[in-house]
Amino acid sequence: MPSSNPFEEWVHQSIMRKIHSDKAFQELFKNKDLKDITKSDLEKYKLYSLKKMVRYVYERSIFYKRLFEKNRIIPEEINSFEDFGKIPFTTAKDVLKDPYLFLCITQDGILRGFTIEEADGKFRRIFFTMDELLNIIDSISAAIRMLGISSNDVVQIVFPFEAQWGCNYLVEKAVRQAGAELVSTGSIDFEEQYKKVLDIKPKLIIGSNPYLVNMTRTLIPKYDLRKAGVKIMLLSRGCEFHPFTKSIREEIERAWGCKALDHYGTMEAGMANAIECLYQNGLHINEADFYYEVVDAKSKEPLAPGEEGELIFTTLSRVGMPLIRFRTKDVSYIINKSCNCGVSTLRSIGGIKKKLKNGSQSRSLLDSFNLIKRLKSIKFKKW
Ligand SMILES: [Zn+2]
Repeated sequence: MPSSNPFEEWVHQSIMRKIHSDKAFQELFKNKDLKDITKSDLEKYKLYSLKKMVRYVYERSIFYKRLFEKNRIIPEEINSFEDFGKIPFTTAKDVLKDPYLFLCITQDGILRGFTIEEADGKFRRIFFTMDELLNIIDSISAAIRMLGISSNDVVQIVFPFEAQWGCNYLVEKAVRQAGAELVSTGSIDFEEQYKKVLDIKPKLIIGSNPYLVNMTRTLIPKYDLRKAGVKIMLLSRGCEFHPFTKSIREEIERAWGCKALDHYGTMEAGMANAIECLYQNGLHINEADFYYEVVDAKSKEPLAPGEEGELIFTTLSRVGMPLIRFRTKDVSYIINKSCNCGVSTLRSIGGIKKKLKNGSQSRSLLDSFNLIKRLKSIKFKKW
C-alpha cells in the first residue's frame, strides 16, 4: 500500500523513479514491483546511493579525490554503512576554502550559487543545478500537502523578496504546486504585516524563525492575534542558528492559537531536509535525498537512535556539488519510529536546540534577520 502521508509518498515515488532509471539498482531490488517501499527497502536504497555517490565524487570532485587519496579511502571498499562511517568529515571550512573544488560538473550546469557570510566577513558558496532546485520545490510542495494544505487554503509567505531561484522563490513555487492560493508579502514592518494577515486570512504562514518570533513579541501586547484565525505557522530555521525551543513553540502557539511547526535545512543541504508534521513527533527526513548520521560530539563515534550528538548529512542525489559526511555542528538525535501522520518508513530528527560551541556563526545574505535590522521603522530586539 502506498503511504497515506503525502510527504512520505513523495519520498517513495522519488526513490522508485531512481530505481527505474538505474539497472544496477533494479537488480538490487530483484525487479521487485515496488508499489510501496518498506523500511528495509529504504536501508538498501540509502546504502546503494551512498556507494554510488562515493564513487561519483571520487571520479569528479577534486576535493574528494584528494581527501580520499590522502586518507587511503578506496571507493570500491565502501560496502556497508560502517565502511562509509570511516570516510573523514567535510566541514564548512573546507567549503569556505574553495567551493569550486567540490564541483562535479562544469560551471555551465550550475543555475544558482547561494552565498553564506561567515561572522568574520568571509563567504561560503553553495551551488545548485536547475534539476536540484526543482527537486527542492517538489519536496517542499509535498511537505505543504502533508500539513493538510489544499486548493481551498490560502498560504502567506513572509520571507524577504529576493532574486529568482532564491529561498522565497522556491517556497512560492512549492505552495503553487501544492495547489493552494499564495500571497507573498515579504518581511515588512510588523504592524503592516499584521494588517495583511487580517486581510488575507491565511491558514498557513511560512517565514523565518527570527522574523515570526520578533513579530509575535512586538504585536502581542497590542493585539489578540488569535482573531487572525491562522491555523499553522511554519518557522523556517534560516541559515543562522535560531533554536526552536519548547518555550518558543508554546509562545507562538499561545499567541496565535495555532500549531507552530519546525523545519530543518541548512543552505549546504539545500534548505529543505526535514519537516515536522501536525503531530509534532520530530522532523521527518527526506530520505530520498539525504542520509543522516548522528555522531558523538567529542569522539565522533556513531550514536544509536535517541542519543544526542552532532548531525552529519550526506547528499544522495546532488550531481553539481554533492557533500559527503558534512558536519552541521547542530545537535540532535535520530527518531526511528512511525508517526500518527502516517509516516512509517522515514526516520526523523529531533528539533535542533543547540549548536556546538565551535560551530560556524554564519549568516546568509538572504536571511530576513539582516533585512529586519536594516528597516529603521522596527525596533530590533535580540533574544
Ligand atoms: Zn508525522
